[in-house]
Amino acid sequence: MEKIVSLCKRRGFIFPGSEIYGGLQGFWDYGPLGVELKNNIKKEWWKSMVYQRDDVVGLDAAIIMNPQVWEASGHTQAFTDPLVECKKCHHRFRADQVGDKCPDCGGELTESKTFNLLTEVYLGSTEPKQKAYLRGEITQGVFVNFKNVVDSTRVEIPFGIAQIGKAFRNEITPGNFTFRSREFEQMELEFFVTPQDDEANRWFSYWKQIRLEWYLSLGMSQDKLRFREHRPDERAHYARKAEDIEYQAPFGWKEFEGIHHRGDWDLSRHHIKHEDYTPWVIETSAGVDRAALFFLTDAYFEDQKRVILKLHPKLAPYKVAVFPLVANKPELVQKARMVFDKLRPTLRVAWDDRGNIGKRYYAQDEIGTPWCVTIDYQTLGDDTVTVRDRDTAQQERFKVADLDSHFLGLLK
Ligand code: ATP
Repeated sequence: MEKIVSLCKRRGFIFPGSEIYGGLQGFWDYGPLGVELKNNIKKEWWKSMVYQRDDVVGLDAAIIMNPQVWEASGHTQAFTDPLVECKKCHHRFRADQVGDKCPDCGGELTESKTFNLLTEVYLGSTEPKQKAYLRGEITQGVFVNFKNVVDSTRVEIPFGIAQIGKAFRNEITPGNFTFRSREFEQMELEFFVTPQDDEANRWFSYWKQIRLEWYLSLGMSQDKLRFREHRPDERAHYARKAEDIEYQAPFGWKEFEGIHHRGDWDLSRHHIKHEDYTPWVIETSAGVDRAALFFLTDAYFEDQKRVILKLHPKLAPYKVAVFPLVANKPELVQKARMVFDKLRPTLRVAWDDRGNIGKRYYAQDEIGTPWCVTIDYQTLGDDTVTVRDRDTAQQERFKVADLDSHFLGLLK
């Protein structure tokens, strides 16, 4: 894990939040490569969950909502974790994650009490200011817009509303790098079905499978993925049934997506009906940050001293890197620049002319760039370049004119 954290910092994937002021626990900043990785994850999710389907539409609701939303949804009462505090060192822990003694100093722990995870904010310029909450899950924005979506589009049940956005939880113990943060991003689908057990169970199984296949289609190792059903006593307050997709992280099997049967919990709490009934909801709720972390972990390989990030090309921050063979031959640099500019409109392309070619390959392997294009003396004669593949290290020659279609074909 330390190797992943250090690679993320060194190469600009993820930095500790507000680092120059000593950081802030549970907050992270995504650097130039991290933002690309995260955007690619979100793009692929949106493509598969919205664009490639007839029965799902998108939404982008506000982060801060009328606080009555959170009263109605039960979050102000039930969105809690059990908190214990060490009587000696006063460190705080989640009671369900520690034993009888303080893991830091062995001291005695207090009785557990419930701790609400919603983050409060205060709005307006006159006292008393209006108390509101940063959303603890992005879901509620979908429910409160259910009627707006039904009335403004041609959706018919069964159908879904997809959303991607930030959520905030005042976690007691943020940790394991970005795994448990206080600010994070979710990608969620709320899928509305008629209120029948058969129908709900069928869609629950269907979405479980679709979501697992999405991770596999982006190259995640099958043997590191599993489903785990929640025991009744660990289910969230809204869930009739819940299963997680878990990943075998360096710190154990961990949830990175939840599939929930929310029944009519939310719509009935908001007094929303469709025709003469209250639809049930099957939800798929994935964390963008956890997905980014687990895609990075899964892609990390070492070959002797060399690090290769075998990210799926669709997720890789850069698809292609372009190099002139040497930096001190203007005709090579000029030609390489031409190839670079030719590829840029359709692909995210990196440029590198520092050091020797071997070092440049390694630097690109380490950030997961799937293909490197080198412009050499032969290019000046026949307009062909070498394309080196990250995973096989094999090189092949291609015509410059064919490069875009070659790479775009591989990215389909
Ligand atoms: P956990 O049991 O790990 O606290 P949860 O069951 O409360 O998670 P959900 O409420 O089901 O999580 O949230 C759906 C998804 O949102 C999770 O699967 C995860 O990917 C993401 N997520 C939830 N909490 C966090 C967090 N603190 N940091 C990063 N991602 C999170």
